[in-house]
Amino acid sequence: MKDAYDVIVVGAGPAGSVAARFAAEGGASVLLIEKRQEVGDPIRCAEGVGTSDLEKYIDIEERWIAAPIKGATINVPDGAPIKLRAKDETQIYGYILERKIFDRALTEKAAKAGVEVYTKTSATGLIMEDGKIKGVKVKRLGEEREIAANLVIGADGVESKVARWAGINTTLKPIDIETGIQYLMTNVDFDEDNVEFYMGNRYAPGGYIWIFPKGGGRANVGIGLLGSKIKDGGRPIDYLNDFVQKRFPDGKIIEMNYGGVPVSGGLVDLSRQGLMLVGDAGHLSDPITGGGIKHALWSGEMAGKNAAQAVKDGDFSEKAMKRYQKEWDARFGKMMKRDLILKNYYLEMTDEEANKIAKALENTDFTGVLEISQLVKILAKVDKKLLLRLGVNQ
Ligand code: FAD
Repeated sequence: MKDAYDVIVVGAGPAGSVAARFAAEGGASVLLIEKRQEVGDPIRCAEGVGTSDLEKYIDIEERWIAAPIKGATINVPDGAPIKLRAKDETQIYGYILERKIFDRALTEKAAKAGVEVYTKTSATGLIMEDGKIKGVKVKRLGEEREIAANLVIGADGVESKVARWAGINTTLKPIDIETGIQYLMTNVDFDEDNVEFYMGNRYAPGGYIWIFPKGGGRANVGIGLLGSKIKDGGRPIDYLNDFVQKRFPDGKIIEMNYGGVPVSGGLVDLSRQGLMLVGDAGHLSDPITGGGIKHALWSGEMAGKNAAQAVKDGDFSEKAMKRYQKEWDARFGKMMKRDLILKNYYLEMTDEEANKIAKALENTDFTGVLEISQLVKILAKVDKKLLLRLGVNQ
């Protein structure tokens, strides 16, 4: 490890690896540090991702695909499952990943682009001089060091300390943080190219339960619940255990993971002088689904390219860093706002309304619900007021 780089990226999740790679491809010298000994392990994810855009970041390889997805089943409280399949039965719309391999493949790509990667290396603070960020304090194998850099990219996930060290308020209200708990199960019997969702108060108040196939009779079975909806001592794991016992009485749990999912629509400040925040560190996951893999890739690319430009210009001012935030807002701001409104709509939804919406989805091609914009149109047929709330003129 050298004493100085143009850019230091903290955290080798998807956001950090992609940011590091794009910064290096743009000509910057880049250090990527990861506190765990292995990138991608342990995972905190259900590993579901849509196919669109993925090729931009990584060549599609069988080694990190656990299962290709061709359809979905939505279960609502009245018990009638709604099956959504594409008209073209062969079309693949999403993947359930092996994130342990996927995340590593993204880091490999960064390394090939010239990024220096160090695992088992934690950021322990920022180096500040006259109020300016000048590098990162790191701890590696018990040894503490200071590594200089004019620009730091915080990609250290939902609990981002980098953001807090820079004085950015990262507090999440209970309504803006979901608790996700998931089992990897084996000996489960269900369609292996299909995802299942269970919605409504009976299954998961203000959230949902998912079953995502992992191939070979295995599945990710999990629940995401909002802090604000967890009442009377109820715990997400109790809802999940209840579900698992009924749905897969012979299933065996072989792994468990859990974590917080930010569903606030993003931090107000994604940057500071000499700093950008990407992925979950910027709270950039989708407010309605909680999915954040794509958001991590998108924001990583944007921040990485902006970092390379800042290095070329020798400009690490607050104004230069803000370009990243402006780009994010211009490209994804509307989508995040709309999905935040949808989240709030979902939270107020009664079981009766959930049943109605499921009925409206009944004869829809699967492609229709993968795009949230299409989903909005379908929901609008059930509840016209939703369009007004979303600010859509009709
Ligand atoms: P992370 O993947 O969290 O990576 C952050 C990295 O930073 C970690 O490797 C961490 O070890 C490292 N780090 C932290 N602090 C330091 C430090 N001080 N020094 C060095 N390294 C540090 N999203 C989807 O799209 N689809 C899903 O199906 C899905 N399911 C989910 C299920 C659950 C239960 C949970 C909790 C989340 C789920 N998500 C899902 C969200 C998704 O996992 C995240 O949005 C995604 O991982 C964000 O990527 P990231 O790179 O920003 O952060």
